[in-house]
Amino acid sequence: MKNRSIVIYLSLIGFLLAATTGWYVYSFLSQPTPLDQTQGKPAPVIFDGQRAYADVQTQVAYGPRVPGSEGHAKVREWMRAELESAGWQVEVQESEALGHPIRNIVAKRGGESPQIIIGAHYDTRIVADQDPDPAKRTEFVPGANDGASGVAVLLELSRVLPADTLPVWLVFFDAEDNGRLNGWDWILGSRVFVKDNPIHPQAVVIVDMIGDTDLNFYKERNSDPALTDEIWLVAENLGHADVFIPEYKYSMLDDHTPFLEAGLPAIDIIDFDYPYWHTTQDTPDKVSADSLQAVGETLQTWIVQLSSQP
Ligand SMILES: [Zn+2]
Repeated sequence: MKNRSIVIYLSLIGFLLAATTGWYVYSFLSQPTPLDQTQGKPAPVIFDGQRAYADVQTQVAYGPRVPGSEGHAKVREWMRAELESAGWQVEVQESEALGHPIRNIVAKRGGESPQIIIGAHYDTRIVADQDPDPAKRTEFVPGANDGASGVAVLLELSRVLPADTLPVWLVFFDAEDNGRLNGWDWILGSRVFVKDNPIHPQAVVIVDMIGDTDLNFYKERNSDPALTDEIWLVAENLGHADVFIPEYKYSMLDDHTPFLEAGLPAIDIIDFDYPYWHTTQDTPDKVSADSLQAVGETLQTWIVQLSSQP
């Protein structure tokens, strides 16, 4: 081969190599990835009311979650496992109230200064003292709505909240539900939580009895009015104005009370028109996935909106 032929030959090989490499790079870059579809953000995960409903069934299957009981211990371990597998840092805060051990479960994301707290009680009442049948008033409360529904919405939120929200703590309060029983009082868990945690969140939202198939939330009179209006507006925009009714009705003592007493903006989302309250009939068939969905997607949307404000 002449020198000129060698130059042409080598140039040809060089050109072919460059073209092949270029084609590979181009096809790699132009491959559709999930990130492309939402301009660099992962596609949002949607709150799943059915999955939350399954969590209600799981809790009721553990039996009564009365403080000190086997069901109480089992549900704590189960909640920890669910939260950790969703990527949250879980802490059991042990304390004491009226001689009873208190164990609040705190799931943290974003550090030690939460801006948002979402709370629900995980214990169930020791006795069904509101049961229409006097013979059943010493039996336990299954707590499908009163206990399990709130926990279920918090657990599902732990799975679907995007990673870039404001710092959030999900708090599962112990010993909320034994008021007017000998040696007990209401809201023991949230009282010790507020005492033991010197934090200043910008919003505290408590959910309690939120799974009723016939769901009606009225604005609660002790709750922070601005925060109440904010969340009721989010619900309305999602088409849930039939559930989040823009009228005031009850005044509740609930796990929001210790936060309000500490000067923190807190609200209670509760449907207190529940005929099976503190009866043996508070069972999963009285709770619906649609109701859990309405509450869950409202809270998810509100947290995302609040986190995107400048
Ligand atoms: Zn109760």
